[in-house]
Amino acid sequence: MKRVTWPNKSHPNISRILLTTLVAIVATTLRAEDAVNREIEPWQPGTMDIHQISTGRGNAGLYIFPDGTTLLVDAGEIEQKTPNHTPDRPDGSRPAGEWIVRYIRHALRHDPKPALDYALLTHFHEDHMGGLTNSQPMSHSGAYRLTGITWVGENLPIGKLLDRGWPDYNHPMPLESPFIKNYRAFVKWQADHNGVKPERFVPGRNDQVVLCREPKKYPQFEFQNVGVNGEIWTGKGTATEHRIPPLDPLLRKQLPDENVCSIAFRLRYGGFRFFNGGDQPGIRPNKPVWYDIETPVAKVVGPVDAAILDHHGYVDTMNEFFVSTLRARIWTISVWNVHHPTPAVWERLFSEKLYPGPRDVFATDVHPKAHEDIKDIDRMASGHGHIVLRISPGGTEFRVVIVDDTSESHRVTKIFGPFKSKM
Ligand SMILES: [Zn+2]
Repeated sequence: MKRVTWPNKSHPNISRILLTTLVAIVATTLRAEDAVNREIEPWQPGTMDIHQISTGRGNAGLYIFPDGTTLLVDAGEIEQKTPNHTPDRPDGSRPAGEWIVRYIRHALRHDPKPALDYALLTHFHEDHMGGLTNSQPMSHSGAYRLTGITWVGENLPIGKLLDRGWPDYNHPMPLESPFIKNYRAFVKWQADHNGVKPERFVPGRNDQVVLCREPKKYPQFEFQNVGVNGEIWTGKGTATEHRIPPLDPLLRKQLPDENVCSIAFRLRYGGFRFFNGGDQPGIRPNKPVWYDIETPVAKVVGPVDAAILDHHGYVDTMNEFFVSTLRARIWTISVWNVHHPTPAVWERLFSEKLYPGPRDVFATDVHPKAHEDIKDIDRMASGHGHIVLRISPGGTEFRVVIVDDTSESHRVTKIFGPFKSKM
C-alpha cells in the first residue's frame, strides 16, 4: 500500500507566499523617496504625478496617471517679452516648446518610448498653445511652424488631442488668428499622417480621458469633464447647461472672449481631488452676469485638495464663492507676468473668512517686482521652480515637490507634506 505522505511541498509554497508578500511590503515601504538636493525620483506605478512645468512663457502641465497614462495640459509660448514678464526658464537659449519636450522626456524616463496618450488645450491663447513669429522653424512637413504645442507634437507622439474647437473651430465665434491657423494646420497634418486623434472636449462626460494601460487596476481614478465654451456640467449624469445666451442680440463688446470658453476639468484618485479651469473668469464688473464661469463651475466641482489658479490669479478670477467652495489645501499658480497673482486674489486665497484651516500657495516663478504690490508675498510656500504634486498609491495622501528650474539638474529644492486627502 502506498504510504500517504503529508505533502511537504506545501511548506515551500507557504514560504514562497510569505516571501512574496514580504517583498511586496518592503518594496512598498522602500519606494524611493524624494530628498532635497537630489534629482527628483522617477514616477512609480500606482502614484499619480502632476507637474506644473516652469518656462516663464505660459502654462504646461504634465500628468502621469496611476497606470502610467500620460496627459499634457497646455504648452504655452508667448512670443513677445517685456519687463513685466518673468524670465525664461531654464533660460532663453531654447524656445519654451523645446524646454517642455526635454522636461517631459526626463519625467517619463521610466518609459523606453515616451509618449503623450493625451494632449489638451484649455483654450486658444498663446500662453497655453504657442504664439507665432516668422522666425520660428517650420515642421519637417513644411505644413506649420513650431511653437508651444506644435513643437511638442513634432517631437513626441500624441494619441488623442482634445481642444474646444475641433473640427470646425467656429464656436462660439470664428477663430481666425494666425497662430490658431498654424495650430489647425498642425492638427490636420498630424491627424492625416501621424495617427493623432483630434476630438472636441465634451462637458459632462467622464470617459473622454481614461486610463489607457491598466484601467481595471485603478477604479478609483476619474477624469470628469466640467465645462467648455460656456457649457457647464450640472453634476447630474452627463447633463449640461449653456451659460452663454444666443449671440445675435448681443452688443459686440459683450461677445464671449476666449477665456470664458476655457476647458475645466476635475481629476479624482481615491480621496484626492484636483481642479484645472484654464483661464475661466469669475469677476467681470462691466460684463453680463454669464461672464462669471467660476460660480457655476464651483457648484459642481466642490471641495478639492489642490487646484491651479484660474487665469494665473489675474484680477478677474478667484471670486469668493469659488475660493470658499473649492477650499483647496494647495493652490498653484503658473506665472509669466508681474500681475500673477493680483493683490485682491492674494487676499482671498488666504482669507480665513472664506474658509478655515491651513493652505499653501505655490508659484512657478513670481516676478522679481511682485512684492511691490503684495507686501507679504513671502507667505508663499514656494515662489520658484517646477511644482510637482505626487499623490500616493490609492490617493490617500500627497506631497508637493519643488524642482529647480534654473537648469536641467532636476534637483529637488523643497518638499512639503504629506497632506491627507480630503475625501
Ligand atoms: Zn493664460
